[in-house]
Amino acid sequence: MQKIELELLKRILILDGAMGTLIQTYALQEQDFRGSLLKDHTVDVKGNNELLNLTRPEIIRDIHRQYLAAGADILCTNTFNGNRISQADYHTQHLVYEINYQGARLARQALESSAATRPCFVAGAMGPTSKLASLSPDVNNPAARAVSFDELVVTFTEQAQALLDGGVDIFLLETITDTLNAKAALFALMQLFDKIGKQFPIMVSGTITDASGRILSGQTLEAFLISISHAPLLSVGLNCALGAKELRPYIQELAKLSPFPVSTHPNAGLPNEFGEYDQSPEQIAILLEEFAQEGWVNLVGGCCGTTPAHIRAIAKAMKKYPPRSRFQLPSLSSAVNKRVNETNYSVSHKELQVNYNQVSKPTYTLKDMMDLISQVEDEPTYNQIKNHFDQQKKLYHPEQILLISAHLFGRFQYLQAEGKLAKMY
Ligand SMILES: [Zn+2]
Repeated sequence: MQKIELELLKRILILDGAMGTLIQTYALQEQDFRGSLLKDHTVDVKGNNELLNLTRPEIIRDIHRQYLAAGADILCTNTFNGNRISQADYHTQHLVYEINYQGARLARQALESSAATRPCFVAGAMGPTSKLASLSPDVNNPAARAVSFDELVVTFTEQAQALLDGGVDIFLLETITDTLNAKAALFALMQLFDKIGKQFPIMVSGTITDASGRILSGQTLEAFLISISHAPLLSVGLNCALGAKELRPYIQELAKLSPFPVSTHPNAGLPNEFGEYDQSPEQIAILLEEFAQEGWVNLVGGCCGTTPAHIRAIAKAMKKYPPRSRFQLPSLSSAVNKRVNETNYSVSHKELQVNYNQVSKPTYTLKDMMDLISQVEDEPTYNQIKNHFDQQKKLYHPEQILLISAHLFGRFQYLQAEGKLAKMY
């Protein structure tokens, strides 16, 4: 088990707050963003916050230190838009490696110079890029795509490699608006881990963008969870767009459905008419404290509009509560013994054999399937359950075959990454 996974068993971990909100307080000008590096650059770069890793590194390091002092356990690098696609908006894509490498170094340096005695971590922040893979940018041509999956994989691989070289402990895919972009990032990370022969924990955090609880590319929370849970994730959560109050029902749902630890870093409320965030540290801490009281969360922090004062208040509130337990999920015997749908499907947990009415097409709910697959804890149980699914394949819906295979594969990879293929928790 990795160090951060051990910490997650002990306490609710604190993520840092907004980077952009603090950068704004420095009232930086075009010249600050350019430094001597881009003195003769032909395009304005003010607002390209990631560039500051190279041109005003002392500011970024200082912001990391402020969050660390406020109680953050995880520092997120200033690299949200540090990818080739987003940087191309400023014609600075040639700086992508340096932006990410230095971004990781700055957070690392803040951590190394800190007096904190608790274990703290650096998370390499990766945003979804400025282009969506599953939606058309052209109202007259629904089939048009601004970016392909393969282009995204190349883009994320470049960013991730630089973050790794700079020394991150974790990857954080955050503010996910398009699941396909997130899947490309996951694919890039898993490929990279294969190449280097080492796994790093991955946090995934989606963004609800409409009142019906969907992310921008149209998926509900449960669909989003299904789409990404083939990967061996450290956590899954929600951030940005909404405040803690508006996120409440979705975090509740996620806590019920997720086989992974749950994270949230909401905005400081909804923006006012000037696009500013008004929620005070006390207000956000009270709202988030309820999540902890309910036992819903494992990692909590802040997004847009939050400051070190917000993180300090949140960290203080979280101290009183234990983290959400993954073992609220049913145990092997109850999960496997119970009939997973009303009609005709049951599993005897001794031999993991199935009694079917031959005409049936068994339908798992997401939770039932995850319960079953989460029982795979070593090579024999993996083979047993896989053989069982393989034999019965024709009884499943095609989507379920895909889903089950993906989940099993993810589970196997996770066990393999842990290097022990034994009971994990
Ligand atoms: Zn945000």
